[in-house]
Amino acid sequence: LPDTGPGVLGGLDPDQRAAAEVPGGPLLIVAGPGTGKTRTVTHRLAHLVLERDVPASQCLAITFTRRAAEEMTERLQALIGPDAQQMTVATFHSFGLRILREHHVQLGLGADFGLADSARQHEILTAITGDERTARRVQAQLSPVRRGGDGDPETEAALAAYLAELRQQNLVDFDDLVVLAVQLLTDHPAIGEEYRRRYRWITVDEYQDVDELQYRLLRLLAPAGANLTAIGDPDQAIYSFRGADVGFFLRFEQDYPSAPVLALTRNYRSGVHILDGAIRAITPSTLVPDRRLHPASNRQAHPIVVHQAGDERTEAAFVARTIDQLLGGASFHSLDSGRVLGDGPGGVGFNDIAVLYRTDAQSHAILDELTRCGLPVQKRSHDRLSARPGVDLLVREMLHVAARTGPVADQLRLAAKAVADTVPEDTRPDIHTAVELLGPLAQRCGQDVPRFCREVLLGAEVDTLDPRAEAISLLTLHAAKGLEFPVVFLIGCEDGLLPLRWPGTEPTVAEVAEERRLFFVGMTRAQDHLYLTRATRRTIRGTQQDRTSSPFLNPLGEAIIQSEAPARRVRPAQLPLL
Ligand code: ATP
Ligand code: MG
Repeated sequence: LPDTGPGVLGGLDPDQRAAAEVPGGPLLIVAGPGTGKTRTVTHRLAHLVLERDVPASQCLAITFTRRAAEEMTERLQALIGPDAQQMTVATFHSFGLRILREHHVQLGLGADFGLADSARQHEILTAITGDERTARRVQAQLSPVRRGGDGDPETEAALAAYLAELRQQNLVDFDDLVVLAVQLLTDHPAIGEEYRRRYRWITVDEYQDVDELQYRLLRLLAPAGANLTAIGDPDQAIYSFRGADVGFFLRFEQDYPSAPVLALTRNYRSGVHILDGAIRAITPSTLVPDRRLHPASNRQAHPIVVHQAGDERTEAAFVARTIDQLLGGASFHSLDSGRVLGDGPGGVGFNDIAVLYRTDAQSHAILDELTRCGLPVQKRSHDRLSARPGVDLLVREMLHVAARTGPVADQLRLAAKAVADTVPEDTRPDIHTAVELLGPLAQRCGQDVPRFCREVLLGAEVDTLDPRAEAISLLTLHAAKGLEFPVVFLIGCEDGLLPLRWPGTEPTVAEVAEERRLFFVGMTRAQDHLYLTRATRRTIRGTQQDRTSSPFLNPLGEAIIQSEAPARRVRPAQLPLL
């Protein structure tokens, strides 16, 4: 590709550069996986600040997960330097929280309002409905009813009582973060105007998964004509079960009639066979029929490997054996960067590897087998920081000694020591882990202990997946969105898991289409090696079932598929010492 010149846009190809240089106004970038959408908007923001004199404080970048926000912040810091701190990079929820904090008075909330997690929600609903089962049923309906506003009378009544009780306790819930922000900006036009003036440049990544409330918040912040850049891929819309609606993406051109619509067509992520297979897989239900997506990386083109195992245990054994081979194999190089990946003898490191699955239940067999073989694994779980064991003890201790001055990180260490001295032996590892999790946040808050404690107790989520950790990542397909790994195992490619089928029901056409998109998202996380595995028998909810292959494998075609001989079990001793 031609060298596109120096400056902050130097690392972009001509199409990406053209998108990054659109001067202002609304802009839609529609492009497939791995085409550099996230990279392009990140560079666009840097370009605006460095080369177009846009004040960094006027930039708001909305990402889908906290991890994505952290990654973008890091890249912006590398591109712009300390000014990047003036930018707001946030998820919809953390941005909503910021609005609520700034205007809690108008919303009738106390300054120290807290966040109700699902345990607290359950507690409140049990008190209201009088029994746990009803409480659980109502709890499952809370979000859908608040979005769609159409519940049965019992749910509506419980919802009203629940909200009254929340406010009584000076609490908000997760939905409130966006609901109340929308309400505030609607009821107080002057406040809406204040935010529109403050954030003149807005970008939203993964726009295909915006839901109704997030859409309403965006419309308030960025009316037609505003400098709003939306990027996404309708074929990666995978969150409709949580209220997301790809319709908002598809109607962007009506909402913002002056918006240019740009496409990116070169995929920099995946080897050619992986890309070819992924395109074949999505084609039967694509929402982008005229998509152009060409390989741009000169990665070594490994074929997609499909492996059929006997059951979930031999499937897990295949994964372990293959990882063992990759760690020891000599032929594994990333031609793209010219470097040998990772520190394993064959070039692949543990954090280059991900195992993806449709349902969390599938992770157990894999986790057991990889651990048995002595392989380091990390499983992603999204937790509310304050719900982690040990965290509340630490924060309480810190609030207690908040009068002391000094860096928050030091205060955290002191608190850990004080707490560890008073708790029984078996709680100490929790304290240790809590300190590690809180570390990065402590760094970010400067000298401000009260602010640190508020962040922890209010909104902070932990994403336990650390990209720098030397460990194999275990992730659900949903959690893998936006990420990439040199080696991907997509396990459980069976009818009933992909598409997912609940007992006694058939998925609708729309549900099958969404499951196919999920499969597409999974395949397109892979850079060099993609393994699709399945079992012919699997224990599901305690009973053994015969399983057939996922229909999503059918369009892949013989040409790109290699089957492998059944796995031999890895004995721990065969693995390199770690
Ligand atoms: P997804 O749809 O999965 O979110 P994406 O379109 O956001 O994908 P990115 O994650 O931005 O894609 O980029 C995919 C990979 O390609 C990244 O490793 C990125 O650094 C690399 N990449 C993108 N553009 C270029 C380029 N012009 N030159 C070299 N590498 C690139
Ligand atoms: Mg992306």
